[in-house]
Amino acid sequence: MQLEAFYHGPKNLWAYAYDNETLHLRVRTKRDDVQRVYAVTGDKYDWERTTHTYPMEKFASDSIFDYWEAQVKPAYRRLNYAFRFEAGTEALWMCESGISHEEPYPPGGYYTFPYIHEIDVFNPPDWAKEAVFYQLFPERFANGDPSNDPEGVEPWGGQPTRENFFGGDLKGVQDHLDYLLDLGINAIYFTPLFKSPSNHKYDTIDYRTVDPHFGTNEQLKELVEACHDKGIRVMLDAVFNHCGYEFPPFQDVLKHGKDSKYADWFHVKEFPLEVRDGIPTYDTFGFFEHMPKFNTANPEVKEYLLDVARYWIGEIKLDGWRLDVADEIDHHFWRDFRRIVKEANPDAYIVGEVWNDSIMWLLGDQFDSVMNYPFSNKVLEFFAAGERDGISFANDMGALLTRYPKQANEVIFNLLCSHDTPRALTLCGEDKRRLKLCVVYLLTYMGTPCIFYGDEIGLSGGGDPDCRQCMEWDFDKQDRELFDFYKLLIGLRKKHGALRDGRFRFLKADPHDRRIIYERMDGKMHFLIWMNNEETPTDMEYPLETNDWKDALSEEPVPVKDGKMKIHLDELGYRIVYRQIK
Ligand code: CA
Repeated sequence: MQLEAFYHGPKNLWAYAYDNETLHLRVRTKRDDVQRVYAVTGDKYDWERTTHTYPMEKFASDSIFDYWEAQVKPAYRRLNYAFRFEAGTEALWMCESGISHEEPYPPGGYYTFPYIHEIDVFNPPDWAKEAVFYQLFPERFANGDPSNDPEGVEPWGGQPTRENFFGGDLKGVQDHLDYLLDLGINAIYFTPLFKSPSNHKYDTIDYRTVDPHFGTNEQLKELVEACHDKGIRVMLDAVFNHCGYEFPPFQDVLKHGKDSKYADWFHVKEFPLEVRDGIPTYDTFGFFEHMPKFNTANPEVKEYLLDVARYWIGEIKLDGWRLDVADEIDHHFWRDFRRIVKEANPDAYIVGEVWNDSIMWLLGDQFDSVMNYPFSNKVLEFFAAGERDGISFANDMGALLTRYPKQANEVIFNLLCSHDTPRALTLCGEDKRRLKLCVVYLLTYMGTPCIFYGDEIGLSGGGDPDCRQCMEWDFDKQDRELFDFYKLLIGLRKKHGALRDGRFRFLKADPHDRRIIYERMDGKMHFLIWMNNEETPTDMEYPLETNDWKDALSEEPVPVKDGKMKIHLDELGYRIVYRQIK
């Protein structure tokens, strides 16, 4: 056994409380090197009576390592533990004091999880596991009220630029709630709604007022009520990293310099505030001089922004906050943010915009979730670009699963594209079959899926601002076949818990081949998802014991003969089969 590959770190994501009674222990070994791993556990004050050995399950693999997990119920909320590795006739033990060929005498030198504190347990809202989000860019979704249109508004359906406006608003959303219900989504993520001069509104100048081109605070309240009446949750975008240029406290600093009472609200390197050789003398989002960065460590700024977070939860019964540029704001701020938000609404869902590994925000004291762009990238590389083989895709997915505790993986915000990226269909080379493979994967994978408005009717477009085009409302121009496909898959996901938080495992993923099979399973249902990510038709088979499988979309029986299920798939085709577990 390769000892140098063994890894375990107490607490963090290698030993964490999943709920008030359950600890998850994880350990790493070299890939395909160790046959069996056990967690040897007990209470340090009563080892003899409480000792229990748990077989560990290989829950993920990447190209180098296998990752094992055990779900442990400590007798008294405390745990001491060691790991036993077996390969062939060899056995090794690992505990905090080291690796040995002999079982170390318990519990001295063992790893410790001192106590499961309810207050420390990372507990994202349950509803986020059931949610299918729809990301809506309000300026481009629907124009329900021409009387509030900005000056110089362009005809609906024109080419988006960084500056132009098409007049979308809250009334437009309210008018189309039945469309969203028909699609089957049950949560909306709105990009920013508050007063701002731009079409994207990521440069807020008044955090407590809905932009007049979108409507009024009262209209937002009515819209959220209407959503709630229809079972749709609402998440808004909080832009707390920076404000807009016209934000009054920033204007005050511009005017009064270091004598302004707001001088410490921003990160000013040198007065006066100006741009020198393209670099502002104050910190900004990127190098955009019209987006000055807040000093969120300043207690006044913190109180101001936390009041905003609390205000909208109280005012409109908001269900969640998506946090813009969340990784560029200090952790102290986010810890206080979580406390304030969860006090106002214990069921609020907090999603940070972090494009990279986000473990430092996903340990229970800051966010519930992050926008999972690493997922988008891997899924698009495999299905849209057809760049990888099956095994490297499976390895990538395995690596992503091992990044976070299970409760984070269950509600991580999975998306194919957003207002900040090219549209999925465009990345698929406008090949609808490839888009469908992406969508099947998105909607049969764990996490909280999000659909970017218009993807479901075939909108295409490149990067910002091209992806922010007007929604197509002419029924004849919508791709209704694609809409029906999205609707079917969303319905399937909502119907079966196994597709949301059931066990996930690849059953086939090979080198030099883009055909995969994976399973989702809980105590009720067992799903197999077959995908042929190749440009030629194929016949695939997989050994199965029972003969009670059905096609999940047509309900037709799918036979198992001589212990094998054989499936024919068209090029870029898929099939979802399932059985009820008796
Ligand atoms: Ca309008």
